[in-house]
Amino acid sequence: MAESALQEIVCCFGQPVAGNPTQFMMESAFAKAGLEWRYLTLEVGPEDLPAAVAGLLAMGFRGGNLTIPHKVAVLEHLDRLTEAAELIGAVNCIIEEDGALVGDNTDGKGFVESLRPLVDPKDKRVVMFGAGGAARAIAVESALAGASHFTIVNRDPTRAESLLQTINDRTDASATFVEWDHDYQVPEESDILINATSIGLGDPDGELRVAFDSMRSSQVVADVIFNPPQTRWLQHAQDAGCQTLDGLGMLVNQGAIAFKSWTGVDPDVEVMREALEEYLEL
Ligand code: NDP
Repeated sequence: MAESALQEIVCCFGQPVAGNPTQFMMESAFAKAGLEWRYLTLEVGPEDLPAAVAGLLAMGFRGGNLTIPHKVAVLEHLDRLTEAAELIGAVNCIIEEDGALVGDNTDGKGFVESLRPLVDPKDKRVVMFGAGGAARAIAVESALAGASHFTIVNRDPTRAESLLQTINDRTDASATFVEWDHDYQVPEESDILINATSIGLGDPDGELRVAFDSMRSSQVVADVIFNPPQTRWLQHAQDAGCQTLDGLGMLVNQGAIAFKSWTGVDPDVEVMREALEEYLEL
């Protein structure tokens, strides 16, 4: 390393955060781009979040990612938010800009980018299973990308209500709710079906309560689960002849958007995906 060079540093705050694959993915992309940047994975508990965010600025970090349990709690410690982060109500990416900390949410944008090669969300009708953080991020960005209607299928009506309000009141799309207490019959006119629940996470046998024979081959079917990426949900979709999208695409693209925001450089997304697959031993 040249004597005068101070490395640029970004990081991830979370708890528990061991086993998070982002550092390996980012450092592979830094190396490929020839950037002297480092990515630190840091175990930070809720009580230490304010000091950790202040420390990020004090130590000249260029930004960072937030994961469980900090995505909502961090909002009050930032100087400003992007439109997407404000609508979603959660931040997964901090960018340092002239001494100010800007909160963004790249999860939904990452999803939409990974979806586009299969289908443009514009004017499409979406069925979304789940109403948590991932569902909110995907729904808001898909609505901003022109999706026309969302059917939110979730067990807990309260959680779904807040997402419905955001879509109906703050975007041009419309949304309705279906309480998920039965095997869901997929409406024929649906274009895109998304599992945004945690069903399937670390559980290759995890099953959604769906009448799988109601799926049509014209529908594009996506999953947020990236480990393992081949879920039962996607298997059912493939059996029905649907095009499918696994959760690795979203993970790579949300990381690629953060990389570009921090460095100003477009990363090699293929290298990022290969690094993830190596880390997750896929
Ligand atoms: P949240 O805890 O915010 O939300 C979880 C959602 O899953 C809720 O809607 C919950 O329903 C639903 N759910 C959980 N278990 C069940 C079940 N057995 N039956 C029906 N519904 C269920 O989590 P997140 O939204 O933050 O994360 C969801 C998943 O997305 C995680 O597995 C995470 O790893 C993944 N993810 C993937 C990303 C990627 O880049 N690929 C990025 C971000 C997240 P209810 O409200 O009724 O409890």
